[in-house]
Amino acid sequence: MDTINLGRPCRITIDPGHGGDDSGAEANGLVEKELNLPIGLRLAALLRAQGHTVFLTRQGDESVSLGERAHMSVANRSELFVSIHHDDQGSSGNGGCHGFAHRVTYRNGMDLATKMAEQVEAVTGVGFSYGEPASDWFGNNLGVFANWNNADEVTCGLVECLTLSRAADAAKTHMDGYTEKTAQAFLRGIHQHLGLPAPDAEPQFRLVGIDGKARTGAWLGDDGHGYCALAVTAEAAGCDIAWDGKGTWTLKKKA
Ligand SMILES: [Zn+2]
Repeated sequence: MDTINLGRPCRITIDPGHGGDDSGAEANGLVEKELNLPIGLRLAALLRAQGHTVFLTRQGDESVSLGERAHMSVANRSELFVSIHHDDQGSSGNGGCHGFAHRVTYRNGMDLATKMAEQVEAVTGVGFSYGEPASDWFGNNLGVFANWNNADEVTCGLVECLTLSRAADAAKTHMDGYTEKTAQAFLRGIHQHLGLPAPDAEPQFRLVGIDGKARTGAWLGDDGHGYCALAVTAEAAGCDIAWDGKGTWTLKKKA
């Protein structure tokens, strides 16, 4: 199926690379699986807020085989499969951000991966490897695309956001809001691929503190993570939290 300029929200599998026994790249004090997951969870929440139906290949530090990931995207009839990674090029390599597509769905997959990688690269400014923008298209049987024929049926794009083995890239993970900015970049890239308008400013929610004053902030996700963060904070402050179902949390001191 042609997903370029599809023009409507769709079914998307988000694949935060590695997990569990498989740490992925480990370099400069960073562990890849720990970077991929929060970006994936946040991206899932952002996509759902835009009306997409989203599946995650993992939601925690779980071991999931490449085959299982691919199979999920076919079994849940996804139209897009987005795999989030960070690279390790050892002591060689030029570092930077790069994208991958599969040869079978090359045109669709390359369009998706290019648009996502360009947006991610714009956040970090690390550049693409091999000197040319978007030149790093191997287009071959990348493991997670090569199972269950998912690349035949699903538009697959993979982005290596940064190269952790290069110190300058690794340092970018410590920038203010790296997870949020990268998730937003994936969202913009996906919308460009689908021919959908640039996503609105992210949904906001209101939090009324025990002082009775309302604050407005970024929506923290419908996957429960925002709620958990808030609940832990409220607990520490001896408060209960109440949700009005319309966008406002209220904190009340426990009686
Ligand atoms: Zn990886």
